[in-house]
Amino acid sequence: MMLNRFNNREAEGLDDLEMRVYTSRLLGVDQNLVLHGGGNTSIKIDDILYVKGSGWDLGSIEKEGFSPAKIEALLELLNYNTLSDSDMVKYQREALTDKTAPNPSVEAILHALIPYKFVDHTHADAVVTLSNTENGESLIEEVYGEKYLIVPYIMPGFILAKEIYKMVKDVDWDSLDGIILHNHGIFTFSNDAKTSYNNMINSVSMAEDYLKGKSYDMEKLKNILEDKKGYPISLRVNTSYIAKYFASQNEDLFKKGVLTPEHIIRTKRSPALIIENYEDEINSYIKEYKDYFKRYASSEIILNPAPNWLVLKNYGVVAIGKNEKEARVIEDIIMHTIEAILRGETLGGYRSINEKDSFDMEYWELEQNKLKGK
Ligand code: ZN
Repeated sequence: MMLNRFNNREAEGLDDLEMRVYTSRLLGVDQNLVLHGGGNTSIKIDDILYVKGSGWDLGSIEKEGFSPAKIEALLELLNYNTLSDSDMVKYQREALTDKTAPNPSVEAILHALIPYKFVDHTHADAVVTLSNTENGESLIEEVYGEKYLIVPYIMPGFILAKEIYKMVKDVDWDSLDGIILHNHGIFTFSNDAKTSYNNMINSVSMAEDYLKGKSYDMEKLKNILEDKKGYPISLRVNTSYIAKYFASQNEDLFKKGVLTPEHIIRTKRSPALIIENYEDEINSYIKEYKDYFKRYASSEIILNPAPNWLVLKNYGVVAIGKNEKEARVIEDIIMHTIEAILRGETLGGYRSINEKDSFDMEYWELEQNKLKGK
């Protein structure tokens, strides 16, 4: 869920144009929505469209940053079959009621034809991330198919406005929560500034939730692990970009071994991979661990065979400690290990000490003596 920055107290008593400035800034300060001058917003007051002028940044825009243009004059431009960029700029300037105002955004005509008082447009990372993929069309359809107009990529400017103009001729605007522009961004709109802003935040959150992937039932996982470990535990779940990336890699990578021998006491040689059937997957980890023990053991005593960390497929990693402090230590170690493994793979392949050396370290006499109470 994206952060919704709207604050009723801050918005209290603002007139329409002030409200336009306020929610434009809320959009502009969020770098997940727009970067460095990107995106644009507008408000219609009577027959005038106040639209972001070029050279202004949404995050710091003032009233003077909105160029006032006659709506009718902008809509008349849609009668042209084609319009060069320079002609469009010229005609948009001619539509201005204040000739000292900055040039209206290149998306001004599009703002004019959306029949709502407030129109917000951003280039939200989550939306374009989904769209800019091999399966972008079906992903966007899956997330936004219901209540959004989905527009294929068209270069911003006159031809985009013209295409949307054709697409919306028979559209029931009230059935729409927004417009998704493939490979470009998203529009939301409403006669109320707060609703348009909320629609933006909620719409982008839909893409963010999709990107996060399926979630895991941590309570269930914790109960199973406590059962297998035989004592209460603390979990640290890490879903950072690097953890998630690691968790999306081939299973072989998870078994590549420790960063330095001493870590094996904390992490064991490898994590358990969790995909769906938590209990079965943990049981098979335990079985593999016991097999590994048998392969190398002579008189040693087996350590607790349950895993000390998990890879949650496509989601992230989990450190398991007997308390929060130990879980943090293990989390630190696995995050450094993950980074080394990923970097190692770019250097021809990560290779740690082998399984036998790992066993010797894990079952080092000095450690075993502690277990035997010597
Ligand atoms: Zn744009």
